[in-house]
Amino acid sequence: MLLPGVDVDLERLIVSPELLVIEAAARGKPPRCPDCATPGRHIHSTYWRTLAERPVTGRRLAIRLRVRRYFCDRTRCGRLTFVEQVGGLSECHRRSSPGLKR
Ligand SMILES: [Zn+2]
Repeated sequence: MLLPGVDVDLERLIVSPELLVIEAAARGKPPRCPDCATPGRHIHSTYWRTLAERPVTGRRLAIRLRVRRYFCDRTRCGRLTFVEQVGGLSECHRRSSPGLKR
């Protein structure tokens, strides 16, 4: 309900008078390497990204999103790792979500 159409698991919701924090983990299919299109199979690591969002009911909304970094298994590919993106929520090198930018 909070993140319609976004493929994530909601892990925690923190509500304070000024701030709403949603912590979620990406759970979509492994992405393909952006350079050679080999599907990711082996997870290198995970990390948290913070995305600012639109205010909701007078509170600032922040989304903390745990994403996975994969190895590229193709030996001839120059890219060692790549990070998954969550459709509708994260895009490469963006700190705010598409909703906030609009
Ligand atoms: Zn690759």
